[in-house]
Amino acid sequence: MSSDAPVSPRTQETLDLYKKYVIGNYTRLPRVAVRGQGSYFWDADGKKYLDFFSGWAVTGLGHCHPRLVKAIQEQAAKLIYMPNNWHTEPQARLAEHVARTGFGGKCFFCNSGAEANEAAIKLARIHTPKGKYKIITFENSFHGRTFAAITATAQPKYQQGFQPLVPGFMYAPLNDLGAVDKLVDEETCAILVEPIQGEGGVNVCTTEFLQGLREMCTQRGMVLMFDEVQTGVGRCGTWWGWQQSGVQPDIMTMAKQLGGGTAIGGMCARDEVAASLVPGTHASTFGGNPLAAAAGCAVFETIRDENILENVNQQGAYLRQRFLELKQDLPIITEVRGAGLMIGVELAEAGGDIVAKAMDRGLYVNCTHGTVLRVMPAMNVTKAEIDEGLAILSDLLRGHR
Ligand SMILES: *Cc1c(COP(=O)(O)O)cnc(C)c1O
Repeated sequence: MSSDAPVSPRTQETLDLYKKYVIGNYTRLPRVAVRGQGSYFWDADGKKYLDFFSGWAVTGLGHCHPRLVKAIQEQAAKLIYMPNNWHTEPQARLAEHVARTGFGGKCFFCNSGAEANEAAIKLARIHTPKGKYKIITFENSFHGRTFAAITATAQPKYQQGFQPLVPGFMYAPLNDLGAVDKLVDEETCAILVEPIQGEGGVNVCTTEFLQGLREMCTQRGMVLMFDEVQTGVGRCGTWWGWQQSGVQPDIMTMAKQLGGGTAIGGMCARDEVAASLVPGTHASTFGGNPLAAAAGCAVFETIRDENILENVNQQGAYLRQRFLELKQDLPIITEVRGAGLMIGVELAEAGGDIVAKAMDRGLYVNCTHGTVLRVMPAMNVTKAEIDEGLAILSDLLRGHR
């Protein structure tokens, strides 16, 4: 966004408070978001934006979906928190939703994607025989910012300055079974992969690759773990990313869309694997709390009752088709990838400028890995909204020919 854009006193006041009191670990846009509804949100100066990013796919039902708001309000008035040495109804129902839309199994809930992956890594190590501890992950992956998660994240920029990292992680190129095979030995306990890499540039795992990993894990007593933090809960047009290939992991992790914007993460594991997480091995104070879990239930029920997966497939296919048409005309577009409404548009040059210009024109979109426009509208986005965003994007891309 152009840095010389005028800023109102109301916006300036918040920016000043941040500058004085909030640690500067994020590159933030010089704007203050105050309200959202459906595919749109507004800043403190009343400027309206069309959301083609959904906050890293967190606000999957758009902003403040009435069903989600109602579920949160009702639960907040009933019971906000109870510790996990009690049972609560929303957590039970949410686990049922996850299991029933996937491969069965059992859930553990936490509060973020990184924590979900930490739980998976701990479970893989405790489940497999003593002496097995190595975990294979992939170049350009992203698994979060805690220590095991940055170690699993095979991108130096996320690890720089934090060494020593957690021992036992090894990295292979994506979609290269031979490379994985070379890394596996008697000490390998698990393979962790995103079925579609998000942060790394919307890189899709081939079905043959995932099938090969499945076979390798089954034959050699390793746990296959899918990081579904970004791909899960409908984003790809199926409930879970693994359903695109039909290759079932032993453990999947989730977060982002799971709570519709409330903080929740989780892990679902096959019964036999889940059984290794006995009392005392792992825990989370806030994990699966009634408020976030009730929001999660509302997310699943809304996707189901409003046929949202169908919309993801329909609008996703349309959006990808339109980008492919643009690619015919515009050499700046080199590839269009993804599934459902998780779409990556690879550019021949850095995409930051297009993202900034789009913001000026009221379209919020993301660029990841330097050159990949990441387009992830709300899963209930309408065709009219897609056309509105596409008009701005195609205009900007044409300007870069
Ligand atoms: C965002 C993300 C994470 C980390 O989630 P946090 O909630 O930020 O900890 C992990 N894995 C993937 C694939 C992600 O997209």
